[in-house]
Amino acid sequence: MEDDEGPECGKPDFVLLDQVTMEDFMENLKLRFEKGRIYTYIGEVLVSVNPYQELPLYGPEAIARYQGRELYERPPHLYAVANAAYRAMKRRSRDTCIVISGESGAGKTEASKHIMQYIAAVTNPSQRAEVERVKDVLLKSTCVLEAFGNARTNRNHNSSRFGKYMDINFDFKGDPVGGHIHSYLLEKVLRGCEDEELQELHLQRNPAVYNFTRQGAGLNVLDTDEKSHHQAVTEAMRVIGFSPEEVASVHRILAAILHLGNIEFVELEENNLEQRRLAVTEEVLVDHVAELTATPRELVLRCLLARTVASGGREVIEKGHTAAEASYARDACAKAVYQRLFEWVVDRINHVMEPRDRDPRRDGKDTVIGVLDIYGFEVFPVNSFEQFCINYCNEKLQQLFIQLILKQEQEEYEREGIAWQTVGARPSLNPRVPGGREMGGGTVLGRQVEYFNNATIVDLVERPHRGILAVLDEACSTAGPITDRIFLQTLDTHHRHHPHYTSRQLCPTDKTMEFGRDFRIKHYAGDVTYSVEGFIDKNRDFLFQDFKRLLYNSTDPTLRAMWPDGQQDITEVTKRPLTAGTLFKNSMVALVENLASKEPFYVRCIKPNEDKVAGKLDEGHCRHQVAYLGLLENVRVRRAGFASRQPYPRFLLRYKMTCEYTWPNHLLGSDKAAVGALLEQHGLHGDVAFGHSKLFIRSPRTLVTLEQSRACLI
Ligand code: ADP
Ligand code: MG
Repeated sequence: MEDDEGPECGKPDFVLLDQVTMEDFMENLKLRFEKGRIYTYIGEVLVSVNPYQELPLYGPEAIARYQGRELYERPPHLYAVANAAYRAMKRRSRDTCIVISGESGAGKTEASKHIMQYIAAVTNPSQRAEVERVKDVLLKSTCVLEAFGNARTNRNHNSSRFGKYMDINFDFKGDPVGGHIHSYLLEKVLRGCEDEELQELHLQRNPAVYNFTRQGAGLNVLDTDEKSHHQAVTEAMRVIGFSPEEVASVHRILAAILHLGNIEFVELEENNLEQRRLAVTEEVLVDHVAELTATPRELVLRCLLARTVASGGREVIEKGHTAAEASYARDACAKAVYQRLFEWVVDRINHVMEPRDRDPRRDGKDTVIGVLDIYGFEVFPVNSFEQFCINYCNEKLQQLFIQLILKQEQEEYEREGIAWQTVGARPSLNPRVPGGREMGGGTVLGRQVEYFNNATIVDLVERPHRGILAVLDEACSTAGPITDRIFLQTLDTHHRHHPHYTSRQLCPTDKTMEFGRDFRIKHYAGDVTYSVEGFIDKNRDFLFQDFKRLLYNSTDPTLRAMWPDGQQDITEVTKRPLTAGTLFKNSMVALVENLASKEPFYVRCIKPNEDKVAGKLDEGHCRHQVAYLGLLENVRVRRAGFASRQPYPRFLLRYKMTCEYTWPNHLLGSDKAAVGALLEQHGLHGDVAFGHSKLFIRSPRTLVTLEQSRACLI
């Protein structure tokens, strides 16, 4: 890898584009991609395109080239971002975070791994054993979580269907001493996707697969040909501290889920011996489930075929399922078992990563770098509750992004003693803009940049009482037969005048929506039509108490520990559990609060094509993502202020050969004065502002001029 890039590689920073249009943006992205330059900046934001091939960009030598350098000294790279976040954390003892977003397959998880590898490589020079242990767990945890995130899908084994936020705690020396993981979206939300995946499991009727599973040979049971990967996962679990018994339990639970997913029901004649209307078609599967979950076979069968209900006071009666109810209950159980298993694994990892020796000098507080790996906007031909949640999450993150980028600019100007020239209104940090596709004005030194403030869309979703989530919860808590259709009608009544909401009812001529089924949200990134089918079920996310009790009474201590709520008696279970949507909203609010308290760095990942092939950049597909990620707006905001800012020494290092007063060394007392002399000689001093430690360059042209005079000399 070269340390420098020639003009044939395009612009290393989109801020340097002659014009900020989609065409110019795409042209630069494509040119760089063709030259193997998968990374490009927008200021300090890194845009990354998945190369779908091994590029010689990583490893110890590359890490050494970025270590301790400033962002612009080397070609754009993840290592530079990791380094910047690390140095900000270490120098200023400030918590930082790296937000990685993009669609499935865009390279987010790979990016987070490279960031972790960078941090692992540059820390702990004194080889402290405890720090080495923590680093080992941090690196291996990704492998284990990915294995679980992926175990459910053999169609697309690279894609992780969960969002993950990981905090890495650092001590005063800047060495990692612990960490903590939060997982998102898997929790109760990804049901539709799991439905699909469970259907795939139904197809796995090959008994050889079952035997393989039952012998506990495969954690990654669907990836039978990936023995080595399986071994790596098992090894990672061992390093993290899972006992052999726990690993065996995990295997059994995964196998039980597979069997459970294959159980089917037939309706019987009325009045059979046991007064049941149902039977399972393959009883042997019930045997397997019972054996693997260490629960009594009779009870497993009863949970599958009927539910107990409290009928006033302490009376309890058994009520037989219909075939449809039984199928629903079976799927709900399989998903819940998987979810609890995943959460248990995350808990275990968190337990071993908990920082042990807190630094007393910082009141026991460590400094933290958070890494968020979460997927971006999703738009399918038919969008359901899952896409709704994911897209709401992205609205929240976009709002934060706008606030933080502007806030960050402002803070830097203040730190550097650069005057603010406010023209027009600054957006407040928590704007609630009622109605209209309003523009918030971010004003930077007299230049106003217009950007869309999406607060009103977030409000549409999460507002108390009338927001979409509140209306959905209301529908779920109503005892009567509330249908998805009625839910949609309620939405229509509440939001008929909302500028970002519409439906076929409200817009009868729009044939791209279906009557009584679809509503549409105008997201900041584009319009998405959602089908309300299944919204209520998915939000209610109901699991019969019978299953919880069954699993709590397992003799397998690992499984039992995952079901503490199975202890409750049916007559005590009165409190309604929080809905999937509300749980998700709460976790998003907490996430955004957490991120807002940190200094952010952003990595925006782009998937170049749908075929996962190297060297192919599908323009239509990429444009879509550039739009959804709001990258053009990002460039505009950045350019409206100062296109570039550089510490004086670094500026001199790069341009001192272009001026007689500074080459080879200057005698001007300070680097600031020397930079002033240099710019004066070029006639460029009118386009800059002099901060305490940095030079602020307003227009990209100035940088281009400087680059050109430099290029003439080397
Ligand atoms: P996401 O987490 O966004 O869904 P991944 O990070 O899992 O996507 O990437 C999907 C696949 O793309 C990876 O398994 C890998 O094969 C390839 N890939 C991603 N990033 C890179 C990279 N920087 N270099 C080489 N291949 C990559
Ligand atoms: Mg991933």
